[in-house]
This record gives sequence, structure tokens and C-alpha cells, in this order.
Amino acid sequence: MLLVMKFGGTSVADIERIRNSAQHVKREVDAGNRVAVAVSAMAGHTNQLVSWTREAFPEYDPREYDAVVSSGEQITAGLMAIILQSMGIPARSWQGWQIPLVTDASHGVARIDRIDGQAMLESVNGGEVAVVAGFQGVSPGNRITTLGRGGSDTTAVALAAALNADRCDIYTDVDGVYTTDPRIVPGARRLPRISYEEMLEMASLGAKVLQTRSVELAMARGVRVQVRSSFDNPDVCEPARAGLAEKRGTLVCDETDMLEHHVVSGIAYAKDEAKIMVLKIEDKPGVAASIFMPLADANINVDMIVQNLSEDGRTTDLTFTVAAGELPRALQVLRDRQDDIRFSELRGDTDVVKVSVIGVGMRSHAGVAAKMFHALAEKQINIQAISTSEIKISVLVSAAHTEAAVRTLHSLFGLDQS
Ligand code: ADP
Ligand code: ASP
Ligand code: MG
Repeated sequence: MLLVMKFGGTSVADIERIRNSAQHVKREVDAGNRVAVAVSAMAGHTNQLVSWTREAFPEYDPREYDAVVSSGEQITAGLMAIILQSMGIPARSWQGWQIPLVTDASHGVARIDRIDGQAMLESVNGGEVAVVAGFQGVSPGNRITTLGRGGSDTTAVALAAALNADRCDIYTDVDGVYTTDPRIVPGARRLPRISYEEMLEMASLGAKVLQTRSVELAMARGVRVQVRSSFDNPDVCEPARAGLAEKRGTLVCDETDMLEHHVVSGIAYAKDEAKIMVLKIEDKPGVAASIFMPLADANINVDMIVQNLSEDGRTTDLTFTVAAGELPRALQVLRDRQDDIRFSELRGDTDVVKVSVIGVGMRSHAGVAAKMFHALAEKQINIQAISTSEIKISVLVSAAHTEAAVRTLHSLFGLDQS
């Protein structure tokens, strides 16, 4: 089999952890599998690099930001190759530009265009383990780019698609995808399988176990992704074998390959949203456009939107959310348009969390929203905004209620461990 094995930050946090991850690679190589590895930077290292660029100059040139923050993966790729070699396994490291993994020029959030990996492919086919620096690529203008935070997952899936790999194993610090973040609900359950669509919603609604783009790519290219733990003893795990499903971890797969069917499969939460309230604006056609057009022009994404009923028939309030990092800019854009919008007051609030229930079963089951709202009300948790899609319902609540809301919904929909 041809496998891509990705090791996240905690799995390469120091030399001992890299050695342990290398043992997982050795197991597969010894069983006769061909392997390409993708690595993240050591846990915490990318955060440090990001903070250095900000400290150096807050309005940094994004091309130089990428030159700095991509460097963590250069270190771990080289170290992994050295450690594999020390175990007698032929290995070679590859930086994004050496492959090359070509992206667009959106520095900091670049998208992969193609992987022209002829030399790397030959090396893998010749029995060498290719150790690829995750998270980074090269732009058409020959500058280093990065794929957005958590982007090594996307490197791994893109490699698996380009190499036509049988499977892409994402090794992390949890042994799979859980019904919710096991760090806040200790009773969360591991899901043996999850559909691409549900995983996509889970990731984009806050479950950072996989980067959203990696799931999009896996779904588009039909890559089988297995999320599993690098903390499992490398010697007791079974090597991958054709036709044999992996028992450990979580397989991200087509909905038709799902074994169990639940109405709700998981709960996600995201703390990186901010709420904006535009108070007492005139209740007339065009007022929403006067707010959302300038935000769109400034490239600010708006997520949840609530317009209150007008009490006096003349004025109304509008509440919506944007990414927390965009709050200052969004408020400034609206203040600059005050002549057009004519609000009596503008408020921003980052003390909120978006909690979402996700499940493909919602397509055919009515009443999920009603049940959710009722349970939150019983816990005295006030809902500030709501948004829905075919397979998810999200509510915005005060950040202080994060754990209570997630735990309540987790039990409500029967997700707790029995
Ligand atoms: P890595 O460094 O390996 O990429 P991440 O920190 O990016 O690891 O992702 C793993 C973390 O994702 C876990 O430690 C866990 O706290 C968090 N997480 C959030 N939601 C979930 C979920 N539903 N299932 C599993 N892990 C989750
Ligand atoms: N090191 C990068 C980050 O911390 C990429 C990754 O870990 O996936 O965002
Ligand atoms: Mg990650």
C-alpha cells in the first residue's frame, strides 16, 4: 500500500516524540508499505514565530510573514529524516519549494494549485520515505507561502491525492474524531466513522482536529482519511493492509460507507467569533444592504444575522457576527458609513461562543432545533443569534456558558458514553 502519514505538533514536539512517531513509520515500512510523511512544526513553535513577526512590525509584509512562520516545518522535516535514517530507513526531506507544491499567492492562507512532485514520487517509488514539510508551498512568483493555521493536514491530504495513496493517516494527540472536543466533555465518544460532510461542518464550526480545507480536499478527491493517535504504542498497532479497515481512530468517508446513523453526530464550538449590534436603524428597504455591502467590499465575512422586529414600525436593530480578529476593522468600516446607515449606537462584543449541533440525520428528522432551544432555556442559557443549514444548527451564546451549553447538548442528543 502507499500511505501518507501526517504527524501534528504534539507528535513532533521534541526529539523523543519524533523518535516515537518515526517508529510508526518504521512499522509501515517494515510491512512493505511505501510511505510519504508530512510533518507539522513542534507544538507551540508556529505560535512563537507568529508572535515574533507581530512584535517585529504589526503591519508586516505577508511574504516575509510566510518566510518566518514556515520555518518550523523545515526543522521537523529534517529531524524526522535524520531519525528515520538512524533507524536504517532510507529517508529524504522535502520543503514545499523543492517538491514543488505550488500554491496561489495568497500569503498566509494560500491554496494549493498543484503538486509537481516527479522527483519526490520517484524517491517514494524507489523505497525512500519522503518527509514533507507541512503547511508550506511556493507561489508562482517563487516565494514561500503558508496554507493557513493547521495547514499541515491539507498538505497531507493533497499529497495523498497527488500520489494516489491508499490512505492518509493523520496522527494527532487524540485517538480519533470525537462527538465533541474531549477536552471539554470527558464523556465524549470516539466516532469509528464520520462522513466527509459532517466532518466538514465539525471542522468549520470549530473542531480543529482537522483543518477545514483538508476535509474539503479529501471530499473532492475521494481521499480516505484516518484520524488516529501517535500516542498509541507503535509496536502494538497493526500495519496497514489492503482490504483491511483500520480499527483504531476515525475513518472520514462517504455517507454511504457509514455504519451507524444518528440524528446528531457531534457538537462543535467556536470562540473566535464576535458579535456586532447596530441599534436603532431605520426600518426600510436597503438598510441591510447599507451595512453588509461595505463589509463585503472590505472582504469581511459575516456569519450569523438577526434582525429584530421593529417595535414602532420605524426603527429596528440588527445583530450579526464576524471573525473576532476582524471586529476592529468591521466596526471602523461601519463608523465610516454612519452617514448612510444612521445607527443610533454601534456595539461590538467578543464575549460570545458559537455552539453547533451537526448531523446528516437532521435532513430527515424534524424538531432538532426545538429540542435544542428548549434544553438551553432550561439551563437559563440565552440565545443571542441562530443560523442553520441542512445538517447543522448553530446558536450564539455568552462565552461563560460554553461548557454548560456543549455538555447539555451532548447529553440531550444521546452522545455521552454509555
Ligand atoms: P495537531 O497538532 O496534531 O494537528 P490539533 O491540536 O490541531 O492537533 O488537533 C487536535 C485537537 O483537536 C485535540 O487535542 C482536541 O482537543 C481538539 N478537538 C476539538 N474538537 C475535537 C473533536 N470533535 N474530536 C477530537 N478532537 C477534537
Ligand atoms: N504548524 C502550523 C500551525 O501551527 C501548521 C500545522 O500545525 O498544521 O498552524
Ligand atoms: Mg492541527
